[in-house]
Amino acid sequence: MIHMDCCAPTNREGRGTNRTSCPHCGKNGRHVPLITLKSLLKPAALATLDPECDYAFCPNPSCETVYFASDGPLTFAVGDLKVPVFQKDSGMDVPVCYCFDWTRERIVQAVRHGGEPLQEIKAQVQAGRCSCEVNNPQGACCMGNVAEFIRQVSSS
Ligand SMILES: [Zn+2]
Repeated sequence: MIHMDCCAPTNREGRGTNRTSCPHCGKNGRHVPLITLKSLLKPAALATLDPECDYAFCPNPSCETVYFASDGPLTFAVGDLKVPVFQKDSGMDVPVCYCFDWTRERIVQAVRHGGEPLQEIKAQVQAGRCSCEVNNPQGACCMGNVAEFIRQVSSS
């Protein structure tokens, strides 16, 4: 029996620790829910999606591949997504937090003016308003990326 879980990505939570390597760069990828690909792929790429595969996200900044099937040959590259991918695009206009549109530039400005973007994002997450699995290409919460980016900004 094929289990369709398009409306319940957390059903596959148990597989989240699966590690498979990117067919292009060999780096380990992290499992992403199918709903993330369905939400973020451009129509032409979506039209080639095999919904019965498991997919992983390649976080390697120097690799063009964003998603790859861990049990098939299918891959999707940066150009197949509707949004720029934080890990693979160092532009200042690229979101770090996709749900609440915190771009690198907005975070830098906020930190410079004494703001606490991490606390603001955390409050939204705690209020249950984030939807990382359909907004963030990595299919998971951005808080780690935000914290890391703020560390970089603050130490430079
Ligand atoms: Zn890769």
